[in-house]
Amino acid sequence: MTELLYNTSAYIRSFEATVLSCDTAGGRYAVVLDKTAFFPEQGGQYADRGTLNSIAVCDVQIKDGIIYHYTEAPLAVGDAVAGEICFETRFDRMQNHTGEHLVSGCIHAMYGYDNVGFHMNDEYLTLDTSGFLTGEQLDAVEIRANRAVFENLPVEVSYPDDETLKRISYRSKTEISDRVRIVTIPGYDACACCAPHVAATGEVGLIKIVDAIRYKGGMRITLKCGNRALSDYGMRLSTLSEIAVSLSAKPEEAFASVQRLSEEISVLKQQLSGLKKELISSRCEQIPYTEGNLCMIERDADTDTLRAMVNLGMEKCTGICAAFSGSDNEGYRFVIGSRTVPMRACVKDITAALDGRGGGSDAMVSGTVKADAERIRSCIAVLDTSKYPG
Ligand SMILES: [Zn+2]
Repeated sequence: MTELLYNTSAYIRSFEATVLSCDTAGGRYAVVLDKTAFFPEQGGQYADRGTLNSIAVCDVQIKDGIIYHYTEAPLAVGDAVAGEICFETRFDRMQNHTGEHLVSGCIHAMYGYDNVGFHMNDEYLTLDTSGFLTGEQLDAVEIRANRAVFENLPVEVSYPDDETLKRISYRSKTEISDRVRIVTIPGYDACACCAPHVAATGEVGLIKIVDAIRYKGGMRITLKCGNRALSDYGMRLSTLSEIAVSLSAKPEEAFASVQRLSEEISVLKQQLSGLKKELISSRCEQIPYTEGNLCMIERDADTDTLRAMVNLGMEKCTGICAAFSGSDNEGYRFVIGSRTVPMRACVKDITAALDGRGGGSDAMVSGTVKADAERIRSCIAVLDTSKYPG
């Protein structure tokens, strides 16, 4: 068994230990020490990072009470090693993990739901609850959890005997064999847990629920605590401030401004679409009646506009009426129609000639081509529609 220094104190960041074994394991080395401050991956929390004699520890796993430190280089059995854990990462996890205890404890105390899932990576922490919580209930949980932070309560660790365990009430995420380690925050939570926590709730800093979605009959809640909550607040504040500046509004008025803007846009879109229709019909009216095919090329028209153009243009020619929109670089979308020519047969020759694809009914087809405007115009101009039996 390795002596678990992180159980003695979560604040041990460097330690001296003796190498008990060092075996090759999948291109790396699995190092066992007589004692360690490295917390191994378990219970939804990743392993600590750090070094052993300046050699990077890339992973730490626990198996049958033995902790394996995975390194890129070997260490000699019997040698003394200096271990160093990355305390910045560790403390961030301690803040977030302890914050999670408070939130789960408050949910349990206030609404009776259990924590049925937990995962933490370097960006966010999620916890799953056994029941649904409304927005107001989540707000109440957050307020109560933060109150525990402001009270700066001790986070107590104990190993009660079996008799005591039967008497006390505590949350338990996993079945823990051997000694049960109970982490208690007086008045808020008691939970069986093996991970490192902060010594007092004040160290957790701000607890913020940043997301909550329905998940498997309960909720999946995303939390940010301490430094993570602080940088998240900074990010949100600067985003809001950029939005407000671009709207020439105060931050607290930004949302109302966005709503006004979006209403204005929808009114303008309606007006624009009406104007486009008027423009198209007046331009089509000016087109002289043509014996043969008609080809119109617009720079920026959507498919509905192209269809409207073709509907009007079909009345102005004896052959086919084609409307294209796009650019020489990126290609063109098209709608083509005719009162006399069966379009389904005709479009095959057009798309073959213009390197495109398309289809539709005999009255109207649509598609795309990869030709430039000049090629499009000459293709449509010379197309002999008499070969398609009507
Ligand atoms: Zn814990």
